[in-house]
Amino acid sequence: MEYKLSNLKPEKVFRYFEEITAIPHGSRDTKRISDYCVNFAKERGLRYIQDAANNVIIFKDGTKGYEQSDAVILQGHLDMVCEKTSDSEHNFDTDSLTLIVDGDNLTADRTTLGGDDGIAVAYALAILDSDDIEHAPLEVIFTVDEEIGMLGADSIDLSMLKGKYMLNMDSDEEGIILASCAGGLTSTVELDAKYAKKTGLKVDIAITGLLGGHSGAEINKGRANANCLLGRLLFNIIEEIDANIISLYGGSKDNAIPRESGVSLVIDSSDYDVLSTACDELQKALSVEYGVTDKNIKITLTRDTEGEYNALVGTSQLKLIFLLVNLPNGIMSMSPDIEGLVETSLNLGILSLDEHKAVMGFAIRSSVNSAKIALKNRVRFMAEFVGASYHESGDYPEWAYKRESRLRDVCNDVFKKQYGHDVKIEAIHAGLECGIIAGKVKDLDIVSFGPDMKDIHTPNETLSISSVERVWNFVIQVLKELK
Ligand SMILES: [Zn+2]
Repeated sequence: MEYKLSNLKPEKVFRYFEEITAIPHGSRDTKRISDYCVNFAKERGLRYIQDAANNVIIFKDGTKGYEQSDAVILQGHLDMVCEKTSDSEHNFDTDSLTLIVDGDNLTADRTTLGGDDGIAVAYALAILDSDDIEHAPLEVIFTVDEEIGMLGADSIDLSMLKGKYMLNMDSDEEGIILASCAGGLTSTVELDAKYAKKTGLKVDIAITGLLGGHSGAEINKGRANANCLLGRLLFNIIEEIDANIISLYGGSKDNAIPRESGVSLVIDSSDYDVLSTACDELQKALSVEYGVTDKNIKITLTRDTEGEYNALVGTSQLKLIFLLVNLPNGIMSMSPDIEGLVETSLNLGILSLDEHKAVMGFAIRSSVNSAKIALKNRVRFMAEFVGASYHESGDYPEWAYKRESRLRDVCNDVFKKQYGHDVKIEAIHAGLECGIIAGKVKDLDIVSFGPDMKDIHTPNETLSISSVERVWNFVIQVLKELK
């Protein structure tokens, strides 16, 4: 293989990183990258475990003087998000990424780079390969399919591990150490749909132009939720006129704040002007309410044709609108421990209606388990109270903030010596594999960090080369201190 990055430092880190980018390794396509790690271990006589899901664990003894130290876990995920520009002919199943170095920036030609989280794998391999870095016994965990729901972390058996400390290297801002993350689950509410024939004018209403965003990281930005706005509009409409829902749509991912929603109604044509005024008034109100945080919201009303339509009737429609208006959404509470951190929230990301039922799906998150349970119970109770069914899936544990952490103290001391100021300790309102792993290895002391990356999960993904080197120096110093 011809190396493009051979003049970058740290040399071994970039060599392994480049080898990783040469192997296709999107989520659900991890056999090849997993085997690469296994071969790496075999060639160096390191003990390893590869499971059926392609997760890999590699073990290395402590260096001289560290033989009896508490084991340290290094962790990252093997899979990457595969995104490319519309003009790219890259084939993620077969092609190596084409790397581009431009000053301090490392990118891939019109595709994601997989710095998230290939850089963690490269760091860990460089440490495993070294004979001049001092470290305690190492247990290196490479998980698969983090990007599609942390499936590898979920399924991996970690019962044989002895690690007391864990360095997760899946964060993307140098100078910040994460110390907690949210747990979560998906709550789904299903309401029976009862249709009858209704004659009248069909009208289509669309709510568009919202910013949307990630339901964890961006829930605190004051953005509107298109599904909640639709509920509000429907309530305003049925207060004024008779209207029946023919069809309706909202977002399709529980963890994305929905940007669009819409409904088709059948109404008496003489009510068209009243309906039109209701839409205009809400749009005006929203332009004030969201004038700073989400200012391009549009409500568009289109006149369709007169005819006979199957539409929701009676309590079936009323209950749906009731749930849309009254089920909670957005931030429920802020953390008392960490300033600015959302502790508990939910997002009505999914809304659909078919011939049998309406479906509403929420992503619920909290860094406090009991608060997560209380919130899901609130959704369930309200749903069941009106006769809807409730179920949940994808429950994952939080990584709770530890008020005492030796690892965090060591990291801060090392950071301070290297950078001249304290590291920032933060927490995120989204899931990390740390939560799942913390649930599997008793009393594990964890931090999460990584070098600067921009625009991850997009074809503009960029890794800072100089940041990789500084974080490398940080990691090897932390390992040295964990005696
Ligand atoms: Zn990642």
